[in-house]
Amino acid sequence: MGKIHELSSVLADQIAAGEVVERPASVVKELVENAVDAHATQVDILVQESGVQSIRVIDDGDGIDDAEVLTAFKRHATSKITSREDLFRVHSLGFRGEALPSIASVADVVMNTSTGTTGTSIHYRGGKLLQQSPAPLRQGTDITVTDLFFNTPARLKYLKSPQTELANILDVVNRIALSYPAVAFRLVHNAKELLKTAGRGDLQQVIAGIYGVQNARKMVAIQGATADFKLSGFVALPELTRASRQYITVLINGRAIKNQQLTKAVIKGYGSKLMVGRYPIAVIALTMDPLLVDVNVHPTKQEVRLSKEPELAKLISTTITERLVDVNLIPSALTNL
Ligand code: ADP
Ligand code: MG
Repeated sequence: MGKIHELSSVLADQIAAGEVVERPASVVKELVENAVDAHATQVDILVQESGVQSIRVIDDGDGIDDAEVLTAFKRHATSKITSREDLFRVHSLGFRGEALPSIASVADVVMNTSTGTTGTSIHYRGGKLLQQSPAPLRQGTDITVTDLFFNTPARLKYLKSPQTELANILDVVNRIALSYPAVAFRLVHNAKELLKTAGRGDLQQVIAGIYGVQNARKMVAIQGATADFKLSGFVALPELTRASRQYITVLINGRAIKNQQLTKAVIKGYGSKLMVGRYPIAVIALTMDPLLVDVNVHPTKQEVRLSKEPELAKLISTTITERLVDVNLIPSALTNL
């Protein structure tokens, strides 16, 4: 009777976009992650009206060859993994091949990309290819997303206030900047510069750029390891606290993740040094065999499944506790910011 039929690819992309592209900050996250995966050393993020009007990300990375540009906008098309084994050894931020087609299905997208030997300009709107033409050879990718959610009014309505959407964007960029101190990031909103990092590979400098020099001076370096995990980062002295846990950043293999147990482990490391309802600023960078962390749990990849979570939580809390045993010894350890 023919009641069952395959969805058109545009419709399928829009459904995927429902998971991947929740708000302007999701677009920023996906585009900036693509720039980092493409080995960019400089990533400029230019946003108008909290991203609702436009989001532009310019990188100096690998670029996409003109023969592959159309493929990059197909669903499940990726250059980052090929086999089932790769899925368990993900080294890149992306791998699902969903971001570009999803974004292109719910917005207007113009991309100029060049590998140095080919240059291409491509224009999609609502999932439809409007134009593809040769473009100048400027190494890297320059992508502009406008009219976000123009064809999904429910999504547009669901957006929060411009301030909240902008705060989300800033949060996304901050976390990626903390994950990649060797990449120079610049975030500009309505011509106002909100963040600029130097890309010199110095995490403490990035922290100073985000939380302020004064606060960065009140943070100390930590380091720890077990057979499976390596930990490094900076944690605030107990005197420097915030009213929310959102200033605790946990990075696993260069990806900012959300994990209640690990966040709790950071707080636990402070023992009784924190007042009730106060939380530290912390950046905890963890490295481990990718086999120990499953990032393919959720489309946005912020939630992960860890094989040895209790062991990792213990490493985090004991490393912090031991470092903060005698905070009076600490000022000498501070570098000259
Ligand atoms: P994924 O990142 O999961 O592979 P995307 O849809 O985000 O999927 O991107 C599809 C492909 O397009 C990527 O695998 C990559 O090869 C290419 N690509 C996307 N953005 C960039 C960029 N800024 N620079 C170079 N290549 C890019
Ligand atoms: Mg991607």
